[in-house]
Amino acid sequence: MDVYAHPTFDMAVRQFDLVAEHLEIPVAERDRLKYPKRSLTVAVPLRRDDGTTTVFPGYRVQHHLSLGPTKGGIRYHPDVRLGEVAALAMWMSWKCALMGLPYGGAKGGVTVDPGSLSSGELERLTRRYTQELIPFIGPQIDIPAPDLGTNEQTMAWMMDTYSTHMGHCVPGVVTGKPIVLGGSLGRREATGRGVGYLVGRAFETLGIDQSGATAVIQGFGNVGSHAAYSLARHGARVIAASDVSGGTYNAAGLDLRALESHVAAHRTMADFGGGEPIDNAALLELPCDVLVPAAMERQITGENAGRLRCRVLAEGANGPVTPDADAILAGRPEVFVIPDILCNAGGVVASYFEWVQDLQSFFWTESEVTDRLFRLLEGAYQQTLLTARKRNVTMRMAAMSLGVKRVWEAKRARGLFP
Ligand code: NAD
Repeated sequence: MDVYAHPTFDMAVRQFDLVAEHLEIPVAERDRLKYPKRSLTVAVPLRRDDGTTTVFPGYRVQHHLSLGPTKGGIRYHPDVRLGEVAALAMWMSWKCALMGLPYGGAKGGVTVDPGSLSSGELERLTRRYTQELIPFIGPQIDIPAPDLGTNEQTMAWMMDTYSTHMGHCVPGVVTGKPIVLGGSLGRREATGRGVGYLVGRAFETLGIDQSGATAVIQGFGNVGSHAAYSLARHGARVIAASDVSGGTYNAAGLDLRALESHVAAHRTMADFGGGEPIDNAALLELPCDVLVPAAMERQITGENAGRLRCRVLAEGANGPVTPDADAILAGRPEVFVIPDILCNAGGVVASYFEWVQDLQSFFWTESEVTDRLFRLLEGAYQQTLLTARKRNVTMRMAAMSLGVKRVWEAKRARGLFP
């Protein structure tokens, strides 16, 4: 399907093809599992503060509909393309299936630099984009959530636009909302906390003492910052972090609160004085116990994978490691990989909890959310590790094969209509 042509989609397809070979899925059944079921492209006109109008492309892709409604984030970034969104939707499918959630994968996005818009422009863009999606989303159809460049406020505008159209309050149409609108306690922190939990489990598996371990974080946004706090809470020293403007290195450990305040005040890490400047490429190659890429896809490639000096590679971002890099890392057993569909699954698990709470109008405490989150992550970690060891495959192959197999079995059980 040429419509999805994009390097990130090619990457997702290459990963799927390897898993399909491993699972010996009949060739005739592979395309049905691989290609997105539905995708929608919309033109989103925005009235600018200066009175002019700009039209932005927007997308929503629903990868498969076999297990329930679809679920996945909304990304605002200048590089958003249909093929990238389709790849992210496909990964969401395998992630939800690995975690045993009753969802297919989805993803959406608008090709825009959110930092270039005023708050009023962001609100109008979000409302108009949501309006274009109305026939395509809903609590039993497709449930968006935040991703790169979007946050709780974006979800509040989406929920309000959808509810206004329906004529009644529909909190279950999105997750990652503010608590006051039916958001869940613990959702904002869930992805980063999940990363921290799984890194702790990987350290136990490898016999690494977590207190005094060193961590490097690429991308100090929602996932990266909460992963940093979670690791620090268990005694790790975060020696470097970065955002799109570059990074800061401090061998004694960064002051995370000071960094967070700087980012909140300036919307960027640039000019943060708590260490020496370091660029994003060099940051990935720092010696450390755990490296957490928590920004964009395709950061670790065939070119730099041989130079990583971490003991655990915890993929907070979606798709940060290319298949070429995977092939190199497969020959470097000293680097333990926690693959993205497991490592960052805390976000969609807590989103699932939020959706369940909204549907029941019955809300949980933060510790109920976090305890259940860790229980699900623990089960998926153990299953993945066991599968990797039993079949002598990489952690990514193990996690993806568990996810793909569940979707394959569901499609087989339902049959092909008509
Ligand atoms: P965010 O917008 O809150 O933060 C992204 C961070 O990455 C920012 O600090 C940004 O400056 C930085 N960044 C952007 N481009 C960069 C680049 N080229 N180099 C270095 N840094 C760069 O986004 P987020 O929600 O934290 O998402 C980060 C990643 O985690 C994405 O891959 C997303 O798909 C994935 N993810 C997010 C969630 C979630 O719950 N938010 C869940 C699962 C996976």
